[in-house]
Amino acid sequence: MPKSVTKLAKPKRATKARKPAGKYGDIRRDLEKQRAALLEEAGVAVLQRPELESFPDLSDQATAEVDQNFTLRLKEREQKLLKKIDDALDRMATRTYGICLRCGEEIPYKRLKARPVTTLCIECKTQQEREEKVRR
Ligand SMILES: [Zn+2]
Repeated sequence: MPKSVTKLAKPKRATKARKPAGKYGDIRRDLEKQRAALLEEAGVAVLQRPELESFPDLSDQATAEVDQNFTLRLKEREQKLLKKIDDALDRMATRTYGICLRCGEEIPYKRLKARPVTTLCIECKTQQEREEKVRR
C-alpha cells in the first residue's frame, strides 16, 4: 500500500477546541450509540411479542405469558435507562454534565466513561446507597 498517497489525501483538522460537547464528546457518542441500540431493541421486542390466541395448548399459553411478562419488565427497565440517557444528553447540552448533583464536584472522567448516565460522584453514590439501606 503506498503510504504517501494516504498522507496527501488526509485533510487538515481545524482546532479541536470547538467541539460542541467539549471534553465529553467521546462519552456523548457512547450515549448516542447506546440510545440507538435501545430503541432498536425496543422495536424488535414489540415486533416479536407472541400472539397469545395462537397457542392451542395450555402449557404453551403459560410459557407465552411468562415470556411476555419478561418482555414487559425488560421494556420498563430499558425505558428507565433511555430516560437516563436522555437526561445525560440534556445535561451535556446545558453544560451541567459531569457535575455531581449532591456535592457539586466534578465527577472523574473515568467514572463517567464507565457509567455515563451517573449523576453522582462515587463518594455521594456510596453515601446514597448507605442511606437507602437505612431507610429500608
Ligand atoms: Zn458528590
